[in-house]
Amino acid sequence: MAEAGSFAERVKSQADIVRVVGEYVRLKKSGKNYTGLCPFHGEKTPSFAVHPVKQIFHCFGCGKGGDVFSFVMEMEKCPFPEAVKIVAEKCGIPVPRPKERTPEQRKENQQRAALIEIHREAQSFFVRQLESTAEGRAARAYLEDRGLNAETIARFGIGYAPSGGDSLLRHLKPKYAETLLVESGVISRDQSGARLFDRFRKRITFPISNESGKIVAFGCRALGDELPKYLNSPESPVYSKSSVLYHMDRAKETIRRQDFAILVEGYMDAIAVANAGIANVVASCGTSLAEPQIKLLGRFTKRVIVNYDPDAAGQAATERSLTLLLENDFEVKVLALPPIDDKKADPDLFIREKGPETYIKALKEAPPYVDYLIGRARQMDLSTGEGKQRALNFLMPYVQKIPNQLLRSEWATRIAQQLRIDEPVLRAALNKSANERRSEVKVAPQLVGRPAKQIERRLIRMLAEAEGFKRELAQRLQQGRLYEGLETEKIFAALIIAGLSEEPVSATEIGAHLEERERRLFFEILFEDAQEPSWEEAESCLEALRRRQIEQELATLQRTIEANPSGKGLRELLERKQQLMKQLAAAS
Ligand SMILES: [Zn+2]
Repeated sequence: MAEAGSFAERVKSQADIVRVVGEYVRLKKSGKNYTGLCPFHGEKTPSFAVHPVKQIFHCFGCGKGGDVFSFVMEMEKCPFPEAVKIVAEKCGIPVPRPKERTPEQRKENQQRAALIEIHREAQSFFVRQLESTAEGRAARAYLEDRGLNAETIARFGIGYAPSGGDSLLRHLKPKYAETLLVESGVISRDQSGARLFDRFRKRITFPISNESGKIVAFGCRALGDELPKYLNSPESPVYSKSSVLYHMDRAKETIRRQDFAILVEGYMDAIAVANAGIANVVASCGTSLAEPQIKLLGRFTKRVIVNYDPDAAGQAATERSLTLLLENDFEVKVLALPPIDDKKADPDLFIREKGPETYIKALKEAPPYVDYLIGRARQMDLSTGEGKQRALNFLMPYVQKIPNQLLRSEWATRIAQQLRIDEPVLRAALNKSANERRSEVKVAPQLVGRPAKQIERRLIRMLAEAEGFKRELAQRLQQGRLYEGLETEKIFAALIIAGLSEEPVSATEIGAHLEERERRLFFEILFEDAQEPSWEEAESCLEALRRRQIEQELATLQRTIEANPSGKGLRELLERKQQLMKQLAAAS
């Protein structure tokens, strides 16, 4: 894959697979390897391993394995050149300008560039409307009423989409093809398909940028009582709702530096929090968080304070997000703001009423999600047995997600105390859920490599990595054809070719020449705990293979003799038999 001297080769030699994989998977050091939960199949106990020296990964559960590039290709669902670019960027290696692309790629890039440009044009159009029209002034008054001054409005690029219905269309139409305008999502087509019109009308507009700061969508709030209250851009080639976090482009540096993020629901909340001087805030812009958004956030931190709206929808969203965050190994706190004068407070309202200092104090005191959930459970009716059972059923799914046994046990004591549940009853429930957790790891038998014999496994390992003598070993195996007929013959063949070649060949390249089953077995062997190989051990393994070879020839010979006892050439056969018997005696 990576040609010698190529850019990919250079990236591979400089990239650290542990670091790159570590951006997607929480890895823990375990012996020589790093292990974690496999991102390619659902599991609760780690069977995914990364080898820092060999720079490969392998999952003992689903069998996926390869080098840093195959990992990123699988993870990002992208082709090889894209993976090389991503790894380079993650490792701070400058990427050379791409060579001539295919016509399709060029067209796609042009389209994306045009869509970004349309958003930029729409953005300045909306901002102008807010600044200089009568309608816009009314919108401005509303914003000021919500505590947003001119500086904030400018800083967050807030604008206004007028009520007319085609003013943006008239502005953009001379420059862009209709299909492109519709594709961008700022312009809609009516059902008959004949008429185009502005998607956003009489609404305050909030530009939504992707991670690199390019505007790719708009979130719009109705100025009056029009429904829906919030209307956002549709999905487009430049915008996928589930993988964008509002304010991420500006928050990411602070999130990385402070190693935590505040997660709020809407853009007004994010703006209010950022305005209070807390830069590491992002909004999910929807009721609940999606997996790609979590992956995006996880590249900058694994610690998050969830501060969703305190209403029922917000609570449900908090709990859904919690599940996803815990599954992705986040350390989570939950801030549930106290009501203000009996009014449920979202971050925006809370900061307006109580001031930034009070909000910052509340953030600092935000409890771990455990306590938040116990608090929620305590709101249930605990006076009856069924009520307690319901509370327990509510808590158990979260307990199940705690990988650490000690922590799980601590939880049990706390839940028992707070909910006044008998500790033995609770522990029984806990153990049951822990067992369910274990039983979730199912390894499909056809995915497991064949259990090659110990000698074969050792020789394969030595051929792959005994720098001192792997060439010599490859020669001996080849000359004596000692590996022929072994179950692992194909792995040996690939390793021998690699061992005899002048250029170093990586495990992944060898794997690329193998059938999937063989590749899995090969990677499994590479990850086995094993002692340092020595030439003495190699020789004794070779010896064993030689014995096996002689025994096999003897068996064949014997069958030939017995099949035809009076045949021609019997004498030669018997002589050969004698010879082999002697060899065998000498070998043992
Ligand atoms: Zn897996």
